[in-house]
Amino acid sequence: MYDVIALGELLIDFAPEGSDLHKNLFLANPGGAPANVLVALSKMGRRTAFIGKVGLDKFGTSLKETLESYEIDTTGLVFSDNVKTTLAFVHLDESGDRSFSFYRNPGADMTLNENEVRYDLIRQARIFHFGSLSMTNEPARAATLKAVEFAKQFGGLISYDPNLRLPLWSSSDEAKTVIVSALSYADILKVSEEELFFLTRESDVEIGSRILQKSFGLNLILVTLGAQGCFYRLNGESAIVPGIKVNTVDTTGAGDAFVAAILHKISDDVTLNNVSQLSRTRIKEYVSFANVVAALSTTKKGGIPSMPSMAEINNHLLGIS
Ligand code: ATP
Repeated sequence: MYDVIALGELLIDFAPEGSDLHKNLFLANPGGAPANVLVALSKMGRRTAFIGKVGLDKFGTSLKETLESYEIDTTGLVFSDNVKTTLAFVHLDESGDRSFSFYRNPGADMTLNENEVRYDLIRQARIFHFGSLSMTNEPARAATLKAVEFAKQFGGLISYDPNLRLPLWSSSDEAKTVIVSALSYADILKVSEEELFFLTRESDVEIGSRILQKSFGLNLILVTLGAQGCFYRLNGESAIVPGIKVNTVDTTGAGDAFVAAILHKISDDVTLNNVSQLSRTRIKEYVSFANVVAALSTTKKGGIPSMPSMAEINNHLLGIS
């Protein structure tokens, strides 16, 4: 059995290195939101597996080794012998804002097809997690939707973090239509404020989250608010749980650390069959924990390398660090 299986992109993130923006120095880090989530979960002691596709090249094989070094099951990772591993470059402007350029025309992650998905693994998972990068193009879009449908049919909880990257879509309308088409499967939805606005055209999180909950029957909606923490809506009730103060150096992967921490708490709760059974006290406790895990991830650089260990989390909670 697995606590969490994630399906989606696995790629190399080239992060800017050094202080001179014009030097174009980059550090190659393993990345991809679903993989970040699994690494964080694995570091918290959860059993995890990854489903996706990389190129049969140096980057692809090193990504497999990275996942395995965190004890993530990679039997669902497929290698393409004719399409290369996706590369993403992160650029920082003078004010520290991030933008991305993707080398993915196509990238191996987009070529996962539905016959390559290991449904036998999905069947053994308590939680299935996915995003929208695997739905930008066919055949990975159909593969993702079939996998989600399968997980739902076998009673797994579905966690969805759209992680909108508009430049990867042929149009904003297509992005919206496809992202929305997967919402009704989700038990847990995590979005940023910008993504909530993109989906609902509503900048008030209270109203926007109510629209999504009513339209798609979502049990739990989490709207991350950066340093401010997180807004949640559960069974018609909502609140903001404030973030914690840390020495932030890089927010890459903070949203993924947040999702992982929520899924960790839900996996830990063996009595929970349905997210709607969560009490108000418990969801507040889970979101506070997730704010701590996500904040700790911002104190180090990168996505995967910044995920905190259980010891670091516990030390923080005990006030030792
Ligand atoms: P992505 O990682 O894709 O940018 P996101 O937009 O969801 O995801 P944020 O809202 O920036 O990410 O952050 C997610 C969570 O990380 C927040 O809800 C909060 O708990 C924590 N966090 C982010 N930035 C900070 C910060 N500067 N200080 C403390 N906590 C932070």
